[in-house]
Amino acid sequence: MSDKRASGRTGTDFIRQIVTAHMGEGRYEGVVTRFPPEPNGYLHIGHAKSLCLNFGIAQEFGGRCHLRFDDTNPETEELEYVEAIQGDIRWLGFDWGDHLYFASDYFERMYECAVVLVRKGLAYVDSSTEDEIREARGTVTEPGRPTRYRDRSVEENLDLFRRMRAGEFADGAHVLRGRIDLASPNMLMRDPVFYRIRHAHHYRQGDAWCIYPLYDYAHCLEDAFEGVTHSLCTLEFDNNREIYDWILDNVGFEEPRTHQYEFNRLNLEYTVVSKRKLRPLVESGYLAGWDDPRMATLAGLRRRGVPPEAIRLFADMVGVAKTESWVDPGKLEFATRDVLNRSAPRVMAVLDPLKLVITNLDEDAVEDLEAPYWPEDIPREGSRTVPFCRELLVERADFAEDPPKGFRRLVPGGEVRLRHAYVVRCDEVVKDPEGRVLELRCTYDPATRGGTSGGRRGIGTIHWVSARHALQAEVRLYDRLFSIPDPEELPDGGDLTDNLNPESLVVMRDARVEPSVAADAADTRYQFERTGYFWRDPVDGAGDALVFDRIVTMKDTWGRRVAPGAAQVKVEAHRPTVTTTAAGRDDGPPPARGAAPAARPQPSRERAGTRRADPELAARMQRYVDGLGLSSEDADVLTGTRAFSDFFEAALAEHAEAAVVASWMVNDLRGVMQGRAVEDLPFGGAELGRLAGLVGAGTVSRRAAKDVLAEMAEKGGDPVAVVARLGLEKLDDASALDAVVREVLAAWPEKVADFRAGKENLLGLFVGEVMKATRGTADPKAARARLLERLRAGS
Ligand code: ATP
Ligand code: MG
Repeated sequence: MSDKRASGRTGTDFIRQIVTAHMGEGRYEGVVTRFPPEPNGYLHIGHAKSLCLNFGIAQEFGGRCHLRFDDTNPETEELEYVEAIQGDIRWLGFDWGDHLYFASDYFERMYECAVVLVRKGLAYVDSSTEDEIREARGTVTEPGRPTRYRDRSVEENLDLFRRMRAGEFADGAHVLRGRIDLASPNMLMRDPVFYRIRHAHHYRQGDAWCIYPLYDYAHCLEDAFEGVTHSLCTLEFDNNREIYDWILDNVGFEEPRTHQYEFNRLNLEYTVVSKRKLRPLVESGYLAGWDDPRMATLAGLRRRGVPPEAIRLFADMVGVAKTESWVDPGKLEFATRDVLNRSAPRVMAVLDPLKLVITNLDEDAVEDLEAPYWPEDIPREGSRTVPFCRELLVERADFAEDPPKGFRRLVPGGEVRLRHAYVVRCDEVVKDPEGRVLELRCTYDPATRGGTSGGRRGIGTIHWVSARHALQAEVRLYDRLFSIPDPEELPDGGDLTDNLNPESLVVMRDARVEPSVAADAADTRYQFERTGYFWRDPVDGAGDALVFDRIVTMKDTWGRRVAPGAAQVKVEAHRPTVTTTAAGRDDGPPPARGAAPAARPQPSRERAGTRRADPELAARMQRYVDGLGLSSEDADVLTGTRAFSDFFEAALAEHAEAAVVASWMVNDLRGVMQGRAVEDLPFGGAELGRLAGLVGAGTVSRRAAKDVLAEMAEKGGDPVAVVARLGLEKLDDASALDAVVREVLAAWPEKVADFRAGKENLLGLFVGEVMKATRGTADPKAARARLLERLRAGS
């Protein structure tokens, strides 16, 4: 676990830079990437990173991304996974169009390529045993030795290989090996095995084959057959690149052909993403299945209610780099809150109810109070009514007889506001003989309806439901599956299950939700005020039963959590018995909304504290919202520290569009800070303002400006000079772009005709040509749109 800091989001990563360069020099007709899952399990969050990268690049460059099932191993593939994987990718928001492939469909062509290598004397049939081959391969310090079959004649090799295919030999009798270099420092190059004999049934090919190619032999050919240009894989394959190139060169694939590039895999703390490691947990019944909401599988995240946009945002925040890193799941939770904050209507639910009786209200009085679904800072319309009456339910933890310091909720003799309703005072506490609180007897102040304070200050607000009208529901609270960051750190003789977090699932059987949710679609994601984001469990909540999953808490509670009544929490595998206690509950009034992604998000609470101590900052916050019209989330971030706010002021002095400058600060600048303080950046607010000005004036594209910012963050400098140095002046106007588009189309009359006859994937070629002609300064999206316009207009 060397580098625990996830790489921040930068304008473009090293892979996109490579692709941009290739497009700029016109190396390929269009960008082709692929996602090659092995159908031996469900996709997980690590695959999501790879999906976002491969499909993302294809989209950005106007190319295409293939979905190819890497099903060359007859022993593990299953049809069930083939279907599930496709469903998960579509859910994540990606589309492979007509480009669905199966590696096993290439077996015949792969066989022909092997024959080419045999004929060239570059592959041979070795009849040694597996042990003999391993033993003769040598070690890191000792070169390998040839086995006695290495010098078989081409004719003999051809004959044996043909008979291997024909099924004349038993498993293990022979293998086909590359004749490469037994002394290579790269062990993979020491005559690797290309084919082995397996008399096994293949789920797609049946019994047509009894020889099967190994990964290193097969993968590069699959890419080459499909015309892939950029084959992206994780870092542990870097030694395999040499063999990838050797095979393609020797089979005779010429440049421009596919090349392999490696990026860092996603490692998520407190979880395990490997299919091989997850499987025992599923099969042993610890988890409800591959879609258990605690799992980092896409099926699990989807069932839990995490929106696909949040996963894409997370992938974007994590970025790609060349060094391994471990990512805190807090980042995914942060992205999830970011999406849900904007999209989830607010309603009220009480997870652990305590009765509250309003003694100055009649038994049968009911008042329907209007309650907006959205807080003031979210510009959306809509409301429902909530029934207010004599018997209510509030959260047990919102009452304390012996309150800790700073407790702003209900105490004996104290007052609290009931959200959307009135201020109530607790006059009496009724207990059972054991001293357990049974109900609170309160009076309400009719003059305090809907936010009127009646002269009170600093009063807290709690949520509630009507006892009579509320709906009973089961609520499932999820937590990290493992209790330590690296679950594979095992005690002697232990296994993964030793590190499971016993509180990863807590079920509240007797929760109550306000009646309005009954009418809503099953897939509505709600914010239950103060307790988190929830939705109906799509499996167990699909019928009449109300079963809610907590998607994510309101804020990061991990690490500084008190465990109220932890002893009562009883949890087991996926079918817990019962528990009624509050866990992971938020403290205090509803917290501030999540802010935009940042390299190191500073908790909003900390920022609020800074403002309380600095009246000037508090005044600026007010001015940013009221005077400049910024959202309160952005204003909150911008006034987190004096230095950050000063930086913003300086930027604003250069470029007066507040919303634009704010977005640069909140989204982009924080991305390139990489944990640095704003004071430590090698440029100041004025430079950022000037950069925003260059984009505003159309001198640089928004996309190129991100590169400029990344360069400034690294080396400093004035944006005008950086733009000139990097040659990033934008192709300035639409008519210039159109002129290039026309030139490109005129240069490719046959391809244009093919496109109009239906070969729409040629668009990538045209986009590439436009990018080449403009030295990468055109906006590829604009180029794409313009090309489509012209191509369609002429048909
Ligand atoms: P597992 O060990 O979980 O089965 P895998 O690498 O065998 O993972 P594949 O189905 O072969 O899974 O992977 C499909 C694609 O997803 C590959 O290109 C692989 O590099 C990528 N991938 C798998 N795991 C991760 C990860 N943790 N981070 C980023 N990419 C990943
Ligand atoms: Mg695999």
